Amino acid sequence: MLVNAADMLKDAEAGHYALGAFNTNNLEWTLSILKAAEETKSPLIIQCTGGAAKWMGSFKVCADMVKACIDALNITVPVALHLDHGTYEQCLACIEAGFTSIMYDGSHEETFQINLDRTKELVELAHSKGLSIEAEVGGIGGTEDGVTSNGELADPAQCKQIADLGVDFLACGIGNIHGVYPADWAGLSFERLAEIKAEVGDLPLVLHGGTGIPVDQIQKAISMGVAKINVNTDLQLVFAAATREYIEAGKDQQGKGYDPRKLLKPGRDAIVERTKELMEEFGSVNKA
Ligand SMILES: [Zn+2]
Repeated sequence: MLVNAADMLKDAEAGHYALGAFNTNNLEWTLSILKAAEETKSPLIIQCTGGAAKWMGSFKVCADMVKACIDALNITVPVALHLDHGTYEQCLACIEAGFTSIMYDGSHEETFQINLDRTKELVELAHSKGLSIEAEVGGIGGTEDGVTSNGELADPAQCKQIADLGVDFLACGIGNIHGVYPADWAGLSFERLAEIKAEVGDLPLVLHGGTGIPVDQIQKAISMGVAKINVNTDLQLVFAAATREYIEAGKDQQGKGYDPRKLLKPGRDAIVERTKELMEEFGSVNKA
């Protein structure tokens, strides 16, 4: 069942658990993530960046694929299809393509006022069409989809201004970064998280860059109001490791081991297992 993400995240915030928002890249990722959600009875957010949509052909290809996979696997848990780090134009394209949720990332706009104005416009548009919408204040460190940010601690007053526009959930930098964390990473700023939470009330917060944050920090963040945790790199790493193991064992050169259904299966299975582990860590198991 394809739904928007507003209610599932409100429930998560109130229930002190979080939902993983897992990025899809292709059919393998989509099927694996859906399978993990169904097997653990976890509500799911499956999301796609503009870059991944380009790889798949278009946002429409992604939306149609996700819908068809939900039907084919008889998925009963609620699933939201969300745009990750969208530009203004990508938000419009996803509304058209049949997504049920969008993220407008205005943190890279020239001024905060532009972020504010465009978020306001897109909140009204998304809600008029039944979609949920995420906004962002303060860049998330690291590089995602070719966009690099130094990572800052989001300004709580700006978070409040964006929250008041009626966004359904909000991404805000609290020391988190995209990609693999450097060895000297300082950790999440719980002080800043508490300051932001005090300003935005029960609005669900989003933690980007969920790969490699120690579990105790993840769970503390959840207890303080983080209800959506974005996971992209983590699944890429387990897929790559399983595929590497298959190739290095020479299995692609044995029999018909070169068949893509054999070659991609270890990676596909690894995504299912890792996604289930993360759902366990986030507390979303049996919440569907
Ligand atoms: Zn992100």
